[in-house]
Amino acid sequence: MTDRVDCVVIGAGVVGLAVARACALAGWETILIEAEHAIGTGTSSRNSEVIHAGIYYPRGSLKARLCVEGRRALYAYCDSHGIPHRRCGKLIVATRDEQVEALRRIGAAAAANGMDDLRWLQRGQAQALEPALHCIAALESPSTGIIDSHGLMLALQGDFETAGGMLAFRSPVTGGQVLGDGSGILLRTGGDEPMELLATRTVNCAGLQAQTVAAAIVGVPAASIPPGRYAKGNYYSLSGAAPFSRLIYPIPEPGGLGVHLTLDLGGQARFGPDVEWIDALDYTVDPARAEGFYAAIRHYWPGLPDAALQPGYAGIRPKLAVPAGQDADFVIQGARAHGVPGLVNLYGIESPGLTACLAIAGEVMRRLEAP
Ligand SMILES: Cc1cc2nc3c(=O)[nH]c(=O)nc-3n(C[C@H](O)[C@H](O)[C@H](O)COP(=O)(O)OP(=O)(O)OC[C@H]3O[C@@H](n4cnc5c(N)ncnc54)[C@H](O)[C@@H]3O)c2cc1C
Repeated sequence: MTDRVDCVVIGAGVVGLAVARACALAGWETILIEAEHAIGTGTSSRNSEVIHAGIYYPRGSLKARLCVEGRRALYAYCDSHGIPHRRCGKLIVATRDEQVEALRRIGAAAAANGMDDLRWLQRGQAQALEPALHCIAALESPSTGIIDSHGLMLALQGDFETAGGMLAFRSPVTGGQVLGDGSGILLRTGGDEPMELLATRTVNCAGLQAQTVAAAIVGVPAASIPPGRYAKGNYYSLSGAAPFSRLIYPIPEPGGLGVHLTLDLGGQARFGPDVEWIDALDYTVDPARAEGFYAAIRHYWPGLPDAALQPGYAGIRPKLAVPAGQDADFVIQGARAHGVPGLVNLYGIESPGLTACLAIAGEVMRRLEAP
């Protein structure tokens, strides 16, 4: 039997959960379909858990707007839902004279994005805050923080289910067909209990599989699906006490933000993620890559002891293929982009997708209501 529902959201990562919550709160009968046995087993549990301020992204980009909007919404949501988080702040550091100009450009871009709380620090001012730090100059971002990402996802799930939403685990979407009369999409799932659902609205939040899911729906134009690539980010944890009380970031590198130091809510330090281009999903962390980490970290923390880094975990960025030297924006496609009424596809939701999840959900609702 085929059930008709107002809305199907594919993928229960932090973005799918935020979108499904917004759809259920709008009064739509909503089913959130997840391939795995639990929420947040993909990129949403394999990241730095940083609430980004919105510093780096090109002016006018979705990343810039949704990060700033999402950060404000996320802090308010954490406060109202009791989600563990901390506004610990962060320092972006120039460790060589030739990096000072790049640091100034980052500050100027952030100001253009409407951020007025960044503070320029000379070496002595930065070291007064963080005595173990080596730098020539630093930018302090007081509105950067850290969050318990699983606590966030559980709160989103709670709101979704309280609003009447239903979650189906172990139900990978295997294909679908856009109906010719524009009334929706017929979706098929695999797993132990295969389903057929006729969805008036469909939101594809399948993260690393978003292109595969879109391509499996007959009627979605192939030309609308942007080619993707995978960029793995490896983390190493620090044994012993954290040397800093704020997050420490170097000048960004192509593909990522550079090997930075983040803290978890328990105060433990971890370093990463680096950028490793891969062809297939693989989350193993090669202990041999630690060598490059020691060198990168000692630029800003010369006191890093030998043998202090242990392989941690890895996450994989769903990158979009763009010409070298360019950074791709989030892609959130409604009917205007692909011609299918009631469908929104999300591609390339890498960092700052965790920070921006509530704002991304708002953007998806706008595309569903007025594509
Ligand atoms: C190394 C790294 C560090 C990061 N650090 C930060 C950070 O500090 N701050 C920040 O704001 N952002 C960060 N991000 C980005 C952030 O983690 C992501 O933007 C966010 O988690 C994406 O969530 P998602 O729901 O789109 O994807 P995912 O969490 O990957 O969820 C997608 C879900 O879809 C499911 N799925 C896939 N195929 C199917 C199918 N066929 N049928 C049903 N379900 C399916 C998957 O099982 C998965 O559960 C980082 C990302 C990486 C990789």
